[in-house]
Amino acid sequence: MILLISDLHLEEERPDITRAFLDLLATRARAASALYILGDFFEAWIGDDAMSPFQRSICQALRTLSDSGTAIFLMHGNRDFLLGKAFCKAAGCTLLKDPSVVQLAGEPVLLMHGDSLCTRDIGYMKLRRYLRNPLTLFILRHLPLRTRHALARKLRSESRTQTRMKANDIVDVTPEEIPRIMQQYGVKTLIHGHTHRPAIHKLQIGELAAKRIVLGDWDRQGWALQVDDQGFQLAAFDFPVAALPQL
Ligand code: MN
Repeated sequence: MILLISDLHLEEERPDITRAFLDLLATRARAASALYILGDFFEAWIGDDAMSPFQRSICQALRTLSDSGTAIFLMHGNRDFLLGKAFCKAAGCTLLKDPSVVQLAGEPVLLMHGDSLCTRDIGYMKLRRYLRNPLTLFILRHLPLRTRHALARKLRSESRTQTRMKANDIVDVTPEEIPRIMQQYGVKTLIHGHTHRPAIHKLQIGELAAKRIVLGDWDRQGWALQVDDQGFQLAAFDFPVAALPQL
C-alpha cells in the first residue's frame, strides 16, 4: 500500500494539523511501503540552515518513519521550494523532481505539485520561473536569515492577497495543459495537489480513458490518496481529537 498527501502547510501555529500528520505517521504510514508528499508540506521554508525547533521535530518524525522501513518521497511546492538536500538527508527522504513519473498500481503515473499547471496566472508563472532559477536559488540560500524571514513574509502575504483577487479559473489548472503534459510523459494517470480542490477527474485523451487525481489540502480535515489492490482511493479523514490536559 502506498500513500500520497500534499498541501499540509505545516506550521507551528497549527498544532491540529501537526497532530494529525504525526498520527498518520504513527498509523497508516507505518503500514505503507512508501509515502509521497507532493509539495507545500511546510507553510514556509527559508533554508535547511534555518530550521526552527518545530521544523526539526517534523524532520525527526519523518526520520523515525523512514527508519521503520517506509520510503519517503518529497516534492517541492510553491511554499517550500527551498527545502534542500540537508533536510532530506536528515529526514531520510528522497527529493523528487517536479514533474516525476513513478510506477504506481502497475502503471506509470505522473506526479506534480500542480502550480506549474496554472498557466493562466501569468504573474505567478513569471515569479515561479524567477524563483526556480538556479542563480536566484543560490542567492536566496545565501541571504542573511533576517532578510530571508522578511522575504518569506512578503511572499506569503502577497500570495494571499493575490489569490483573493484573482478569478477562480485563474488559480485552477489550465484545462488544455492536462492532456498536453500527460501525452508528453506517456501516462494515463496524473496526480497533483496545490489547487485545494480534491477530486478524481475522469478524462478522455484521444482514445484513452485517463484520470487526474487532485489531492486535498489539510485544513479542517486531512486528505490522503491510498494506492493498493483496489486501485486509487482518495478520502478525507477527521483530525484526531486532542488529548485533554490532565486535571
Ligand atoms: Mn501549492
